[in-house]
Amino acid sequence: MNDGLNVENHSIERYLRLDRLPHIWCAGCGIGIAVGCFLRAIDRANIDPDKISLVSGIGCTGRVAGYVKLDSFHTTHGRAIPFATGLVLANPELNVVVFSGDGDLAAIGGNHLIHAARRNIDMTVICVNNFNYGMTGGQVGPTAPLEARTSTTPYGNFEPAFNLPYLMSASGATYVARWTVLHARQLERAIAEAMTKPGFSFIEVISPCPVVYGRMNKEPKGLDSMHFYQEKSVIRNGADPKDADIELNGPILVGKFIDETRPTLRDRLCQVSAKAQEKVKAKV
Ligand code: SF4
Repeated sequence: MNDGLNVENHSIERYLRLDRLPHIWCAGCGIGIAVGCFLRAIDRANIDPDKISLVSGIGCTGRVAGYVKLDSFHTTHGRAIPFATGLVLANPELNVVVFSGDGDLAAIGGNHLIHAARRNIDMTVICVNNFNYGMTGGQVGPTAPLEARTSTTPYGNFEPAFNLPYLMSASGATYVARWTVLHARQLERAIAEAMTKPGFSFIEVISPCPVVYGRMNKEPKGLDSMHFYQEKSVIRNGADPKDADIELNGPILVGKFIDETRPTLRDRLCQVSAKAQEKVKAKV
């Protein structure tokens, strides 16, 4: 039963905890679109929802874990990836997805992010990037473009931003893509692809935060950001991620940048374990 919300028979209804609605996200926020793409991707990829574990960190995007009717975990700030790593190692049958924001994943969780990519741990990371810490008042974050105004950089950001696709590909991720929430079909396809691919997959989702970041950067409505994405997005599959820097008011390179295969952490662990067992047998 859901007071006032007519979501009956919607294709993703069965994946939502309707008793938790309405959600906390502001009008015009893009996180809900990213969630819809993720839930439709489950069906597109024909994945058993009972095998999915979703892990979120802290912040507006971290709330996703509370709204999906899957095995989901809302963990502490920056620690979604270590929590997810434990799930992957304990039960290789699980399809583990980390769904969190740029502040959570790339700032306090940045160390975990790069090492999970280096190890090629079998998980999909969906990073909603709205260029700031929305929930706590719009402070500057590690992906805020130079000169962007935030509540802690009212005269413009003076710190260079992370280019997340480049960071991830340099760290060893075997699947790297970026889409905006305007590219809902491509995003859904990318998530389905990433969830069915072994190894560490990273998808950056550029998303509006109208009430905090957008208000300070000439995009006070979610629709303003959508128009901006329409005007500025450049789709280039296979592009070199080092060209994916985002500048204030500049173009946004989107597409699937990396799709390759190399042994996962578990593959290597199994190889070492088999060798160790052979050595032990030889000594007996
Ligand atoms: Fe979305 Fe920004 Fe509102 Fe958070 S503060 S819910 S990111 S619009």
